[in-house]
Amino acid sequence: MNIEDSELCSSIRDDFYKMGFGNTPMLVHHMSNGSTIYAKLEFFNPFGSIKDRGSFFMIEDAIKKSDRNKKLIIVDGSSGNTGIAIGNICRKLGLESIIFIPPGTATETREKLEQSGAQIEVVGESPESTSTAMAIERANKLAIEKPDTYRFLHQHGNPMNYKAHIYTTGPEALQQMGGSPNYVAIAMGTGGSIIGNGLFFKERNQDTDVIMMQSNQDAYIQGIRNFMKAKDKVILEKHISIVDRMLNLSEKDAENGVKFLIENYELLVGFSAGGNFSGAMKIGEEHPGSRIYTVFPDSGEKYRNLYLSRNLTTDDDFSSLSKKILDIRKDYVTL
Ligand code: PMP
Repeated sequence: MNIEDSELCSSIRDDFYKMGFGNTPMLVHHMSNGSTIYAKLEFFNPFGSIKDRGSFFMIEDAIKKSDRNKKLIIVDGSSGNTGIAIGNICRKLGLESIIFIPPGTATETREKLEQSGAQIEVVGESPESTSTAMAIERANKLAIEKPDTYRFLHQHGNPMNYKAHIYTTGPEALQQMGGSPNYVAIAMGTGGSIIGNGLFFKERNQDTDVIMMQSNQDAYIQGIRNFMKAKDKVILEKHISIVDRMLNLSEKDAENGVKFLIENYELLVGFSAGGNFSGAMKIGEEHPGSRIYTVFPDSGEKYRNLYLSRNLTTDDDFSSLSKKILDIRKDYVTL
C-alpha cells in the first residue's frame, strides 16, 4: 500500500500541532491473559473529540485551495462531533461556517453546536430523525448553487478526513505503543479513523490486522454506523480492501465498555468508546498475548441524559466523574 506523503498534508500537520491539536494521551489496559489494549483518549483534543483531527485537515485543505480574495464559508451536515469541531475550528481561523443538523440531535450536542460559532440549520424527515442524510444533501446543494462562496467539506468522502489519521493519530500512537500493534480495531462512522489508522499501520507492518467494527443493524450507538445500512460511504468503499475482518457491536457491548471504564479507571467516555473498548476486549480474549490499538472518540459529557436513563451512574457520580476527566491526563502515556 502506497501512502502518498504530500507536502500539503505535512504543512497542515505542522499547523495542527502548532495550534495545540492532537498529542492525546493513551490508556494502557493489561488483560489477565497477557493481551494489552491501547486506547487514545481523543476527548483531550481542544474541542472535545477525535473529529478535531479530520475537521482541521479538511478546513485547512479548503483554505489552501481557495481564492484568498473571495469570502469562503464552510458547510457540512453533522449531528455531533464533526459539526462541533468545524464550528470551533472555523471560528479560531476566522471563517464562517454553516452546519445542517437533523431534528433529533440531542439537546446537549445542540448546545455545544450553538456555542461553537457555527450557524445551525435544522433539516430532516421527521421531528425525531437522527439521520444526517437530508442535512448532508442541503449542504451539498448550497455549495453547488454558489461554489465560489460555500465549500462543502463532505466528511464521508473527503480524503483529508482519513489522511488526518495517517499524519497525526497513527504516528502518535506508534510512538506511545513503542511499536506496531497486532490489531487496529476501531468502529466506523465515516470510516476516517479506521481507514486512516489502518492504512498507517498496514504500511508499516503487513501483519497488523485491521478490524473494522460496526454497530448491529438494529443498534444505535452514537457516532457508529452499520456498513450495510450506511448510505454515504465513499471513504469506506474505496479502502475496504485493507479491512481484514468486521466485528459487530450491540448497544449492550457499548454500555458494558462504558461501565468497565468507569469502574476500573473512573473514566467517563462516550458510547462509541465503550463499544471500541468492548470490541478490543473480545479480540484480546480470542488472541492471548496480543496488542490491540483503538481510540476513545469522545467523553461521556454530552451523554448525561443517556447515562441516567440507562442507570449507568447517578446524577452526582456523573457530575464528579465529569469534573475529574480533565485532571487525569497525568495518569496516562503522554507524548
Ligand atoms: N464516535 C463518535 C462519538 C463520533 O462522533 C464519530 C464520528 N461520527 C465516530 C465515533 C466515528 O469516527 P469516524 O467518522 O472517524 O469513523
